[in-house]
Amino acid sequence: MRVAIIGAGVAGAAAGQRFKAAGYQVSLFDKGRGAGGRLATRRASLGDQTLRFDHGAPGVPVGSGAYGAWIERAITDGAAARWDGGNPDAHIAGLPATKALVVHALDGLNATFGVEVEEVSRQADGWWIIAKSTKAGPFDAVLVTVPAPQVPRLVAPHDLILTEAATSARYDPCWTVMLAYPDAADAAVRAAAGIHNAQDLTVIADHAKPMREGPPRLVVHAGPERTKAELEAEKDHMATEIAREMGALGCHEPIFAVGHRWRYCRVAQPVHVPNCWGADGTLGVAGDWTAGSTAEDAFMSGEHAAESFIAAN
Ligand SMILES: Cc1cc2nc3c(=O)[nH]c(=O)nc-3n(C[C@H](O)[C@H](O)[C@H](O)COP(=O)(O)OP(=O)(O)OC[C@H]3O[C@@H](n4cnc5c(N)ncnc54)[C@H](O)[C@@H]3O)c2cc1C
Repeated sequence: MRVAIIGAGVAGAAAGQRFKAAGYQVSLFDKGRGAGGRLATRRASLGDQTLRFDHGAPGVPVGSGAYGAWIERAITDGAAARWDGGNPDAHIAGLPATKALVVHALDGLNATFGVEVEEVSRQADGWWIIAKSTKAGPFDAVLVTVPAPQVPRLVAPHDLILTEAATSARYDPCWTVMLAYPDAADAAVRAAAGIHNAQDLTVIADHAKPMREGPPRLVVHAGPERTKAELEAEKDHMATEIAREMGALGCHEPIFAVGHRWRYCRVAQPVHVPNCWGADGTLGVAGDWTAGSTAEDAFMSGEHAAESFIAAN
């Protein structure tokens, strides 16, 4: 059996490993330049230094079941460590960066990056994946694990129920600002970290996570209400504004300040999809939005999708 998985985030990786363990031939396609999805790490150059920021999920939950077993393996293999992230959804950090968790989860799978799938096409010999520069197939089944708002363009021509489910899911947006400071600022930057409710900001001392190198760094996430109020602001404006607010908390002038807008950050309203393999049983959906709002939910949705397909075939 040949299965294509669109999206190589944690849901796609979990599904891929489950299919592979059952002897399936698995191909993953992701539009990103590398692994991670929203377990994201940004690299940036500053002079001769390379800065790394976990600008997506700061960490993931400890969890249980198949997800918990994967986390334990990642810790044993040196891809993750326990970390007091200040929130129960983020007690595990990737090593040396969040995206390492997904790199670990994808181990041994055939994943192609830089491929934005534009269409899933049903032909006489099976399913085909159509992108600008690539056409891949035929596949016996396709699992779509992209964020819900991006599902309809792939699924709508084939399955009304899955399309409607994806349309019902809701996400909160999030403005994230990445800040780096001179070495001497370490104490002030660490002191600024923590939940800072008054300004609707969550402030994380990224450099203080396990196994990080480089100058003091903050990753600042604006809450949903604040983000919605400034959703269409310029990235530079948000970076300057939040850097100024960190200055009011005692941080120095940053040596690096960049904003990133997550239009689809955390799931605010997941959708229970009773049959994730849709009407004909060979085009399916998975991802956090089908199960909850954490990386654990995403993982378990991928695992569940693969298991239910294997059981039915
Ligand atoms: C700022 C932020 C903070 C968060 N904090 C936490 C936290 O503390 N704890 C926690 O558990 N979770 C947190 N999350 C949520 C967590 O990151 C997600 O739940 C999880 O990563 C979702 O995994 P996924 O595989 O479902 O989707 P994604 O990780 O979004 O993966 C989907 C993949 O599909 C790819 N894709 C999309 N469209 C296409 C296309 N057309 N063709 C090819 N590829 C495509 C994308 O590039 C992406 O890699 C946070 C997320 C963000 C952004």
